[in-house]
Amino acid sequence: MTERATHAPVTSCAAARLEKTVSADAVRHNLALLRAEAGGRRVMPVVKGDAYGLGARAVATLLVASGVEALAVDTVAEGVDLREHGIDRPILVMDVDVSDNASACATYGLMPAVATVGQVERHCGAGHRQGGPVTVWLRTNIGFNRFGPREDQDFEVVLDALREARAKIDVAGVFAHLSSSAWDEKETAEQATTFQSRVHQARAVLGAHLSASLAATHGLLHPAALHGTDWIRPGLGLYGLLLPAGRNLSGWQTSGLDRLRPALTVRARVLDLIDVTRDEGLGYDRSCAVPPGRCLASVAIGFSRGITGSAAGFSGLLHGRTCPMVGKPGMDCTQFDVTKVPGVRPGDWMTFIGPEPAGGPVVRTAEDTAAELGLSLYELLAVLRMPVRLEDPR
Ligand SMILES: *Cc1c(COP(=O)(O)O)cnc(C)c1O
Repeated sequence: MTERATHAPVTSCAAARLEKTVSADAVRHNLALLRAEAGGRRVMPVVKGDAYGLGARAVATLLVASGVEALAVDTVAEGVDLREHGIDRPILVMDVDVSDNASACATYGLMPAVATVGQVERHCGAGHRQGGPVTVWLRTNIGFNRFGPREDQDFEVVLDALREARAKIDVAGVFAHLSSSAWDEKETAEQATTFQSRVHQARAVLGAHLSASLAATHGLLHPAALHGTDWIRPGLGLYGLLLPAGRNLSGWQTSGLDRLRPALTVRARVLDLIDVTRDEGLGYDRSCAVPPGRCLASVAIGFSRGITGSAAGFSGLLHGRTCPMVGKPGMDCTQFDVTKVPGVRPGDWMTFIGPEPAGGPVVRTAEDTAAELGLSLYELLAVLRMPVRLEDPR
């Protein structure tokens, strides 16, 4: 079979224009590093948002083959999709989903987060109809303030409901989400202390066997966020990425997270080259003025792929040079000034994240691109919509 015949034609035609690639080797390296940094704790990678836009099915399959003990998603739909694609590890649904989805949770053997008495009741009912107890994780609110009660005494009420429901519901563990672990040591330490006392409270009511999980990627920069826990839930770090502020935390000095390896490349092809010969605007309404003598490359990326109109400082890398965007992105095409780039031809790949295709010395980091687009790294990964290839040299 030819390379081409292995892909659906739609995907291969789309991927010939623009592509995200994820290095399986880098993901495996990062997983092992994160596990080691967490003192060998169990790892429940977070593959929500289609694995941050990198393809949940393929990434989950890779992670399972690399020995992760469980996976975490945001929604029941995401968990069902993984089950239907053969992922048989425990799957935690971290966000509280709508009650309509409780029965799917039970049918597909997903572990829902519960944070209130009403949520406990709905999963008891769904488990009962399914003919067996459901396994849940108790989500406790230590200041993220999206799910569940904030106060200890209200948390105690949820614990009592879980104790009452013991025959119908198994509680695997307690987890919470830190609100500021990428930049605030003091607040993270306070939240970690609250979490430890909530875990203590929960074990006193439900048993000492309960697991505990607090740290996501940036939590690994705070020893207090690991203390007393036995699972970590990294997402962004799997792809070798950290928010820049994390490097200012004191935990950065002693951590080995500087050895994370970027896993992602994003490239799009030059479609055509335009030599500007007249003093006239370009694109819709010709509002962008470009003087004669400039050479512009029309490149196969646009706002349908996540490059939005506010991207004033956006640029791409071509033959080792940084090329600024000119005018506004179109649906599937955006222009870049390549006047100073020698030897550009249609079909060349412009790089937006990662090293250049020929392995040139210049690398664009995801942080560069996120900063230019005014997005966080999380937002950047999620908005870049294009075919993804998991690159596995094995
Ligand atoms: C997204 C998320 C994570 C993973 O966060 P990263 O910063 O990507 O490591 C962990 N836990 C919860 C509850 C989340 O929502």
